[in-house]
Amino acid sequence: MADLAVEAEGLVKRFGQTRALDGIGLAVPAGSIHGVLGPNGAGKTTTLRTLLGILDPDSGWRRILGQDKPMRAARRIGYLPEERGLYPSMTPREAIAFLGALRGLTLAEGRRRATALLDEAGLGHAAAQPIRTLSKGMAQTVQLLGTIVHRPGLLVLDEPFSGLDAINQQRLEGLIRAQVAQGATVLFSTHVIAHAERLCERITVIAKGGVRFDGTVAEARDRLPSRVQLRTRHGDGPWRGALPADAVARDRDWSFALPADGIEPILEALIAGGAGIETLAIERPSLHEAFVALVGEPVAQDQADAA
Ligand code: ATP
Repeated sequence: MADLAVEAEGLVKRFGQTRALDGIGLAVPAGSIHGVLGPNGAGKTTTLRTLLGILDPDSGWRRILGQDKPMRAARRIGYLPEERGLYPSMTPREAIAFLGALRGLTLAEGRRRATALLDEAGLGHAAAQPIRTLSKGMAQTVQLLGTIVHRPGLLVLDEPFSGLDAINQQRLEGLIRAQVAQGATVLFSTHVIAHAERLCERITVIAKGGVRFDGTVAEARDRLPSRVQLRTRHGDGPWRGALPADAVARDRDWSFALPADGIEPILEALIAGGAGIETLAIERPSLHEAFVALVGEPVAQDQADAA
Protein backbone atom coordinates (compact mmCIF):
# COMPACT_ATOMS: atom_id res chain seq x y z
CA MET A 1 0.00 0.00 0.00
CA ALA A 2 1.23 3.48 -0.86
CA ASP A 3 2.62 5.62 1.89
CA LEU A 4 -0.21 7.82 3.15
CA ALA A 5 0.41 11.47 4.01
CA VAL A 6 -3.06 11.84 5.54
CA GLU A 7 -5.53 9.24 6.69
CA ALA A 8 -8.71 9.42 8.70
CA GLU A 9 -11.67 7.28 9.55
CA GLY A 10 -15.07 7.88 11.10
CA LEU A 11 -14.51 11.56 11.96
CA VAL A 12 -17.51 13.02 13.73
CA LYS A 13 -17.68 16.67 14.79
CA ARG A 14 -20.72 18.36 16.28
CA PHE A 15 -21.31 22.06 16.83
CA GLY A 16 -24.34 22.18 19.13
CA GLN A 17 -27.15 20.57 17.16
CA THR A 18 -25.17 20.61 13.89
CA ARG A 19 -23.35 17.43 12.94
CA ALA A 20 -20.74 19.09 10.73
CA LEU A 21 -18.84 15.81 10.21
CA ASP A 22 -20.77 12.59 10.25
CA GLY A 23 -18.21 9.85 9.82
CA ILE A 24 -15.71 11.32 7.34
CA GLY A 25 -12.82 9.13 6.24
CA LEU A 26 -10.13 9.69 3.65
CA ALA A 27 -6.69 8.54 2.57
CA VAL A 28 -4.20 10.77 0.74
CA PRO A 29 -1.18 9.00 -0.78
CA ALA A 30 2.13 10.78 -0.24
CA GLY A 31 3.15 12.85 -3.27
CA SER A 32 -0.37 13.19 -4.66
CA ILE A 33 -2.81 16.06 -5.19
CA HIS A 34 -6.07 15.30 -3.45
CA GLY A 35 -9.24 17.37 -3.64
CA VAL A 36 -12.03 17.59 -1.10
CA LEU A 37 -15.07 18.67 -3.04
CA GLY A 38 -18.45 19.64 -1.74
CA PRO A 39 -21.10 22.33 -1.89
CA ASN A 40 -21.27 25.18 0.64
CA GLY A 41 -21.69 23.92 4.18
CA ALA A 42 -20.74 20.34 3.27
CA GLY A 43 -18.07 20.20 5.98
CA LYS A 44 -14.90 20.82 3.96
CA THR A 45 -13.34 23.41 6.30
CA THR A 46 -14.28 21.40 9.38
CA THR A 47 -12.69 18.32 7.79
CA LEU A 48 -9.41 20.14 7.11
CA ARG A 49 -9.32 21.76 10.56
CA THR A 50 -9.98 18.42 12.22
CA LEU A 51 -7.27 16.72 10.18
CA LEU A 52 -4.83 19.45 11.18
CA GLY A 53 -5.66 19.21 14.89
CA ILE A 54 -7.11 22.74 15.06
CA LEU A 55 -10.32 20.97 16.06
CA ASP A 56 -10.57 17.69 17.93
CA PRO A 57 -13.11 15.20 16.62
CA ASP A 58 -15.88 13.92 18.90
CA SER A 59 -15.03 10.47 17.57
CA GLY A 60 -12.97 8.87 14.85
CA TRP A 61 -9.22 9.12 14.29
CA ARG A 62 -6.77 10.80 11.93
CA ARG A 63 -3.07 10.49 11.22
CA ILE A 64 -1.11 13.16 9.41
CA LEU A 65 2.48 12.64 8.24
CA GLY A 66 2.54 9.61 10.50
CA GLN A 67 1.42 11.52 13.62
CA ASP A 68 -1.74 10.70 15.57
CA LYS A 69 -1.33 14.07 17.27
CA PRO A 70 -1.42 16.35 14.20
CA MET A 71 0.16 19.34 15.96
CA ARG A 72 3.39 17.35 16.25
CA ALA A 73 3.64 17.46 12.47
CA ALA A 74 2.85 21.20 12.30
CA ARG A 75 6.32 22.28 11.19
CA ARG A 76 6.14 19.99 8.19
CA ILE A 77 2.73 21.32 7.13
CA GLY A 78 1.79 24.46 5.21
CA TYR A 79 -1.80 25.58 5.85
CA LEU A 80 -3.77 28.20 3.95
CA PRO A 81 -6.89 28.86 6.02
CA GLU A 82 -10.20 29.88 4.49
CA GLU A 83 -10.05 33.24 6.24
CA ARG A 84 -7.23 35.15 4.60
CA GLY A 85 -5.37 37.77 6.51
CA LEU A 86 -1.97 39.38 6.64
CA TYR A 87 -0.94 42.44 8.60
CA PRO A 88 -1.70 45.25 6.14
CA SER A 89 1.26 47.37 7.21
CA MET A 90 3.78 44.53 6.76
CA THR A 91 5.63 44.09 3.49
CA PRO A 92 5.29 40.82 1.56
CA ARG A 93 8.91 39.93 2.35
CA GLU A 94 8.39 40.43 6.09
CA ALA A 95 5.01 38.66 6.10
CA ILE A 96 6.45 35.58 4.40
CA ALA A 97 9.50 35.57 6.69
CA PHE A 98 7.19 35.93 9.70
CA LEU A 99 5.05 32.97 8.59
CA GLY A 100 8.24 30.98 8.07
CA ALA A 101 9.43 31.89 11.58
CA LEU A 102 6.18 30.46 12.99
CA ARG A 103 7.25 27.16 11.40
CA GLY A 104 10.80 27.20 12.68
CA LEU A 105 12.83 29.24 10.17
CA THR A 106 15.11 32.05 11.28
CA LEU A 107 13.89 35.46 10.11
CA ALA A 108 17.06 35.92 8.04
CA GLU A 109 16.51 32.64 6.20
CA GLY A 110 12.81 33.47 5.81
CA ARG A 111 13.65 36.84 4.23
CA ARG A 112 16.13 35.23 1.86
CA ARG A 113 13.59 32.63 0.75
CA ALA A 114 10.81 35.23 0.59
CA THR A 115 12.82 37.33 -1.85
CA ALA A 116 13.36 34.33 -4.13
CA LEU A 117 9.73 33.18 -3.89
CA LEU A 118 8.39 36.66 -4.65
CA ASP A 119 10.70 36.94 -7.66
CA GLU A 120 9.55 33.54 -8.97
CA ALA A 121 5.89 34.53 -8.51
CA GLY A 122 6.46 37.75 -10.47
CA LEU A 123 5.93 39.88 -7.36
CA GLY A 124 9.53 40.96 -6.84
CA HIS A 125 8.61 44.58 -7.53
CA ALA A 126 6.14 44.56 -4.62
CA ALA A 127 8.41 42.81 -2.08
CA ALA A 128 8.98 45.91 0.01
CA GLN A 129 5.68 47.79 -0.23
CA PRO A 130 2.93 47.54 2.41
CA ILE A 131 0.48 44.70 1.86
CA ARG A 132 -2.42 47.16 2.05
CA THR A 133 -1.31 48.54 -1.32
CA LEU A 134 -1.54 45.12 -3.05
CA SER A 135 -4.54 43.78 -4.93
CA LYS A 136 -6.53 41.01 -3.26
CA GLY A 137 -5.09 38.42 -5.64
CA MET A 138 -1.51 39.58 -4.99
CA ALA A 139 -2.07 39.48 -1.23
CA GLN A 140 -3.46 35.98 -1.52
CA THR A 141 -0.40 34.89 -3.48
CA VAL A 142 1.81 36.37 -0.75
CA GLN A 143 -0.10 34.40 1.86
CA LEU A 144 0.30 31.27 -0.18
CA LEU A 145 4.06 31.83 -0.47
CA GLY A 146 4.02 32.13 3.32
CA THR A 147 2.56 28.64 3.53
CA ILE A 148 5.38 27.10 1.45
CA VAL A 149 8.36 29.12 2.67
CA HIS A 150 9.40 26.44 5.19
CA ARG A 151 9.23 23.79 2.41
CA PRO A 152 6.51 21.67 3.98
CA GLY A 153 5.97 18.04 3.05
CA LEU A 154 2.22 18.57 3.13
CA LEU A 155 0.20 21.55 1.94
CA VAL A 156 -3.37 21.91 3.15
CA LEU A 157 -5.19 24.63 1.24
CA ASP A 158 -8.74 25.66 2.09
CA GLU A 159 -10.47 27.02 -1.04
CA PRO A 160 -7.16 28.34 -2.43
CA PHE A 161 -8.67 29.44 -5.74
CA SER A 162 -11.39 31.54 -4.18
CA GLY A 163 -10.98 35.23 -4.96
CA LEU A 164 -8.36 34.76 -7.71
CA ASP A 165 -8.87 35.74 -11.34
CA ALA A 166 -8.33 33.21 -14.14
CA ILE A 167 -4.64 34.12 -14.61
CA ASN A 168 -3.85 33.84 -10.93
CA GLN A 169 -5.83 30.62 -10.67
CA GLN A 170 -3.65 29.20 -13.42
CA ARG A 171 -0.52 30.42 -11.62
CA LEU A 172 -1.70 28.73 -8.46
CA GLU A 173 -2.27 25.47 -10.32
CA GLY A 174 1.32 25.74 -11.57
CA LEU A 175 2.60 26.40 -8.08
CA ILE A 176 0.71 23.39 -6.69
CA ARG A 177 2.13 21.15 -9.42
CA ALA A 178 5.64 22.47 -8.75
CA GLN A 179 5.31 21.66 -5.04
CA VAL A 180 4.28 18.12 -5.87
CA ALA A 181 7.14 17.78 -8.37
CA GLN A 182 9.46 18.63 -5.45
CA GLY A 183 7.98 15.81 -3.40
CA ALA A 184 5.18 17.50 -1.42
CA THR A 185 1.62 16.24 -0.98
CA VAL A 186 -1.24 18.68 -1.55
CA LEU A 187 -4.69 18.43 -0.01
CA PHE A 188 -7.10 21.20 -0.97
CA SER A 189 -10.79 21.93 -0.70
CA THR A 190 -12.95 23.48 -3.36
CA HIS A 191 -16.52 23.79 -4.48
CA VAL A 192 -15.34 24.61 -8.02
CA ILE A 193 -14.98 21.40 -9.94
CA ALA A 194 -12.76 22.56 -12.79
CA HIS A 195 -9.68 22.80 -10.53
CA ALA A 196 -10.16 19.34 -9.12
CA GLU A 197 -10.68 17.96 -12.60
CA ARG A 198 -7.39 19.40 -13.84
CA LEU A 199 -5.25 18.81 -10.77
CA CYS A 200 -6.32 15.86 -8.70
CA GLU A 201 -5.31 12.24 -8.84
CA ARG A 202 -8.10 11.46 -6.40
CA ILE A 203 -11.04 13.29 -4.95
CA THR A 204 -13.26 12.90 -1.92
CA VAL A 205 -16.74 14.32 -2.49
CA ILE A 206 -18.54 15.26 0.69
CA ALA A 207 -22.04 16.53 1.39
CA LYS A 208 -23.83 17.06 4.69
CA GLY A 209 -20.78 15.86 6.62
CA GLY A 210 -20.57 12.47 4.90
CA VAL A 211 -18.42 11.03 2.11
CA ARG A 212 -20.46 10.61 -1.07
CA PHE A 213 -17.59 9.43 -3.24
CA ASP A 214 -13.91 8.65 -2.98
CA GLY A 215 -11.77 7.74 -5.97
CA THR A 216 -10.32 9.09 -9.18
CA VAL A 217 -11.99 11.73 -11.33
CA ALA A 218 -12.46 9.08 -14.04
CA GLU A 219 -14.19 6.77 -11.58
CA ALA A 220 -16.52 9.57 -10.51
CA ARG A 221 -17.46 10.17 -14.13
CA ASP A 222 -17.98 6.46 -14.69
CA ARG A 223 -20.71 6.54 -12.06
CA LEU A 224 -22.97 8.02 -14.73
CA PRO A 225 -23.71 6.32 -18.04
CA SER A 226 -22.13 7.67 -21.22
CA ARG A 227 -24.39 9.04 -23.95
CA VAL A 228 -24.29 8.84 -27.68
CA GLN A 229 -25.01 11.97 -29.65
CA LEU A 230 -25.94 11.27 -33.23
CA ARG A 231 -27.19 13.34 -36.15
CA THR A 232 -29.17 11.91 -39.02
CA ARG A 233 -29.66 13.32 -42.51
CA HIS A 234 -33.39 12.69 -42.43
CA GLY A 235 -35.76 13.64 -39.65
CA ASP A 236 -38.28 10.91 -39.93
CA GLY A 237 -38.91 7.48 -41.35
CA PRO A 238 -39.85 4.03 -40.16
CA TRP A 239 -36.43 3.81 -38.46
CA ARG A 240 -37.66 6.31 -35.84
CA GLY A 241 -39.41 3.37 -34.17
CA ALA A 242 -35.96 1.92 -33.31
CA LEU A 243 -35.14 4.92 -31.13
CA PRO A 244 -36.13 4.98 -27.47
CA ALA A 245 -39.21 7.11 -26.85
CA ASP A 246 -37.21 9.76 -24.95
CA ALA A 247 -34.60 10.24 -27.73
CA VAL A 248 -35.95 13.58 -28.83
CA ALA A 249 -34.63 15.33 -31.92
CA ARG A 250 -33.19 18.71 -31.05
CA ASP A 251 -34.47 21.53 -33.26
CA ARG A 252 -34.30 20.78 -36.97
CA ASP A 253 -30.79 19.38 -37.19
CA TRP A 254 -32.03 15.88 -36.28
CA SER A 255 -29.69 15.45 -33.42
CA PHE A 256 -30.51 12.71 -30.91
CA ALA A 257 -29.05 11.90 -27.49
CA LEU A 258 -29.20 8.22 -26.52
CA PRO A 259 -27.80 6.10 -23.71
CA ALA A 260 -24.58 4.42 -24.90
CA ASP A 261 -25.62 1.16 -23.31
CA GLY A 262 -27.43 -1.01 -25.86
CA ILE A 263 -26.70 1.33 -28.77
CA GLU A 264 -25.53 -1.35 -31.28
CA PRO A 265 -28.95 -2.77 -32.32
CA ILE A 266 -30.33 0.75 -32.56
CA LEU A 267 -27.51 1.80 -34.90
CA GLU A 268 -28.05 -1.30 -37.03
CA ALA A 269 -31.76 -0.46 -37.35
CA LEU A 270 -30.98 3.16 -38.27
CA ILE A 271 -28.50 2.10 -40.94
CA ALA A 272 -30.84 -0.57 -42.33
CA GLY A 273 -33.72 1.93 -42.29
CA GLY A 274 -31.77 4.56 -44.23
CA ALA A 275 -31.70 7.24 -41.53
CA GLY A 276 -28.39 8.49 -42.95
CA ILE A 277 -26.17 8.86 -39.89
CA GLU A 278 -24.05 11.98 -40.40
CA THR A 279 -22.20 12.23 -37.09
CA LEU A 280 -21.90 10.05 -34.06
CA ALA A 281 -20.09 10.91 -30.86
CA ILE A 282 -19.83 9.23 -27.50
CA GLU A 283 -20.14 11.76 -24.72
CA ARG A 284 -18.76 10.91 -21.30
CA PRO A 285 -20.46 12.69 -18.42
CA SER A 286 -18.44 15.63 -17.11
CA LEU A 287 -17.15 15.65 -13.56
CA HIS A 288 -19.67 18.41 -12.97
CA GLU A 289 -22.57 16.16 -13.94
CA ALA A 290 -21.14 13.36 -11.80
CA PHE A 291 -20.72 15.80 -8.89
CA VAL A 292 -24.31 17.00 -9.12
CA ALA A 293 -25.50 13.40 -9.16
CA LEU A 294 -23.31 12.55 -6.15
CA VAL A 295 -24.27 15.49 -3.94
CA GLY A 296 -27.81 15.80 -5.23
CA GLU A 297 -27.75 19.56 -5.71
CA PRO A 298 -26.39 22.15 -8.12
CA VAL A 299 -22.80 23.30 -7.60
CA ALA A 300 -20.48 25.90 -9.14
CA GLN A 301 -19.15 24.72 -12.46
CA ASP A 302 -16.85 27.19 -14.07
CA GLN A 303 -13.57 28.80 -13.22
CA ALA A 304 -15.20 32.01 -12.12
CA ASP A 305 -15.55 31.56 -8.41
CA ALA A 306 -19.07 31.64 -7.10
CA ALA A 307 -18.04 32.36 -3.52
P1 ATP B 1 -18.17 26.47 2.70
O1 ATP B 1 -17.85 25.98 1.33
O2 ATP B 1 -19.44 27.28 2.74
O3 ATP B 1 -17.02 27.12 3.41
P2 ATP B 1 -17.74 23.97 4.13
O4 ATP B 1 -17.98 22.78 3.28
O5 ATP B 1 -16.33 24.38 4.39
O6 ATP B 1 -18.59 25.18 3.60
P3 ATP B 1 -17.97 23.94 7.00
O7 ATP B 1 -17.50 25.35 7.14
O8 ATP B 1 -17.07 22.86 7.42
O9 ATP B 1 -18.47 23.66 5.51
O10 ATP B 1 -19.34 23.81 7.80
C1 ATP B 1 -20.07 22.60 7.94
C2 ATP B 1 -21.24 22.83 8.87
O11 ATP B 1 -20.78 23.06 10.20
C3 ATP B 1 -22.10 24.03 8.50
O12 ATP B 1 -23.44 23.71 8.80
C4 ATP B 1 -21.58 25.11 9.42
O13 ATP B 1 -22.58 26.05 9.69
C5 ATP B 1 -21.22 24.32 10.67
N1 ATP B 1 -20.09 24.94 11.40
C6 ATP B 1 -18.81 25.01 10.97
N2 ATP B 1 -18.03 25.59 11.91
C7 ATP B 1 -18.83 25.90 12.95
C8 ATP B 1 -18.61 26.51 14.24
N3 ATP B 1 -17.39 26.91 14.64
N4 ATP B 1 -19.68 26.66 15.03
C9 ATP B 1 -20.91 26.23 14.66
N5 ATP B 1 -21.19 25.64 13.47
C10 ATP B 1 -20.16 25.47 12.63
